[in-house]
Amino acid sequence: MTSRRDFLKSSALLAAGTLILPGAVSINSIGKPKVIIIGAGFAGLAAAYRLKQRGCEVTILESRGRIGGRVFSHTIDKDEDLVIELGADWVGASHERILALSGELGLELMNYQFDSHLIYAGQYYPKGAWDYSSDWKTKFAKIMTEYDKLTDLDKQKLDKMDWWRYLVNNGISERDLQIRELFDSTDFGESIRHVSAYAAMAEYAESSEKNEMDFKIKGGNSRLPEKLAEKIGADNILLGHKVVEVQQLDGTVSVICNNGKTFSGDNLICTTPTYSLSRISWKPGLPEEKIDAINALQYARISKHAILFDERFWNDESFDMVTDVYGHYFYHGTKNQPGKKGALISYTIGDKADVVSRQNDEFKINMISDSLRAGFGDVKNKVVKQISYYWGTNQTSKGAYALYGKGQWYTVMPILKKKFLSTYFAGEHLSDWQGFMEGAIITGEEAADEIAG
Ligand SMILES: Cc1cc2nc3c(=O)[nH]c(=O)nc-3n(C[C@H](O)[C@H](O)[C@H](O)COP(=O)(O)OP(=O)(O)OC[C@H]3O[C@@H](n4cnc5c(N)ncnc54)[C@H](O)[C@@H]3O)c2cc1C
Repeated sequence: MTSRRDFLKSSALLAAGTLILPGAVSINSIGKPKVIIIGAGFAGLAAAYRLKQRGCEVTILESRGRIGGRVFSHTIDKDEDLVIELGADWVGASHERILALSGELGLELMNYQFDSHLIYAGQYYPKGAWDYSSDWKTKFAKIMTEYDKLTDLDKQKLDKMDWWRYLVNNGISERDLQIRELFDSTDFGESIRHVSAYAAMAEYAESSEKNEMDFKIKGGNSRLPEKLAEKIGADNILLGHKVVEVQQLDGTVSVICNNGKTFSGDNLICTTPTYSLSRISWKPGLPEEKIDAINALQYARISKHAILFDERFWNDESFDMVTDVYGHYFYHGTKNQPGKKGALISYTIGDKADVVSRQNDEFKINMISDSLRAGFGDVKNKVVKQISYYWGTNQTSKGAYALYGKGQWYTVMPILKKKFLSTYFAGEHLSDWQGFMEGAIITGEEAADEIAG
């Protein structure tokens, strides 16, 4: 039966010239807010789980044919059951919410820490055989200690500069700078010349000793979205439902999908990356300041190229290696997974990722082999298979995660976070733990709390 409120809503929508398409799905009120969520990534699933726990009715609309979003585990070898990550890899030791959820849902975490080797200027340095200069180590330790004393004003000033400039202004030597660029750019997905000095400093000062590269979920990180989905209920998660239009009027929201279905509720939580957000038709339109903020924010270009080898010739489960050649950063993606075979992942960023992503398999394997040569000789004959995933051209995000550049942390993020009528926004790009699964979870839970108290 249509309630008076529902009737008023639909007649007002029609009066405003909007159309509820045939086949519209009505979500019945049970006294608690009815919430629609766009996106079944970590932000959307965490929001839905919390709302369900508060007794709310939730519907998640997900454009892809799978859940998990940018968390995307892949079985690279079925015989030995070896699982790698094509999206998010590391769970950080300071990431309280993902650790708590994993525990609550019975998931086991495996150690996933690495000891870095280095190939620099044609020379291979095993772990422990290379370091920054002692002068720079002392300076950097002081910078990290002094972070705690920064005022909000200091942080805002720092945000106006890039991380590369900050290091240069603090007297880093050329060699130290080049090595820092190689390491730090893997954290942000682009050169540190493009990264806010505040965003970088906050990440290093507030992170665990291994920079939040501490654990991985046994069986693959996708186990967590699967467990969350079980709790939320498969019926409440609609895959293959791409949202194309959002109508908001008189405290209600109607969401239209590309398959013609319409869903109505009291609130909407939109968890899409900004690229997808800008592709949705908003009625009324998003405020101009939000559109400007969406247009200002870039996303990092990261490519993951996994190579399965017939043996673990690196002879160290905790092997990772930064190089100054095309393969950039290598790490053992099957660490602590028993098996003879093993996968190394070449993690490239920025222009490097973009160039390599367009090359054929032969180019890629030659590139990997050349990148490893200084440390391990010719490894081409040990290759079983390879698989690549380039996030720069991904249809929903056009990048791996948000990249806060100079002057953006304190200006762009607050605007993107702002509620718009009955819509709350969530997702990694809106969190202090930006770029992490943790950030996505926290923003989803915060949006749920704001709606359901
Ligand atoms: C290569 C790479 C490496 C990473 N490494 C790490 C790491 O080591 N550790 C870590 O913690 N984090 C890492 N991250 C970041 C982490 O994956 C993200 O922070 C997190 O998964 C983002 O979750 P989200 O819910 O905000 O967004 P998403 O996961 O992108 O979820 C948004 C969902 O919305 C859906 N969607 C978009 N538009 C629409 C629409 N119009 N209609 C319906 N659905 C829509 C999308 O399909 C997607 O499923 C990495 C990410 C990448 C890509």
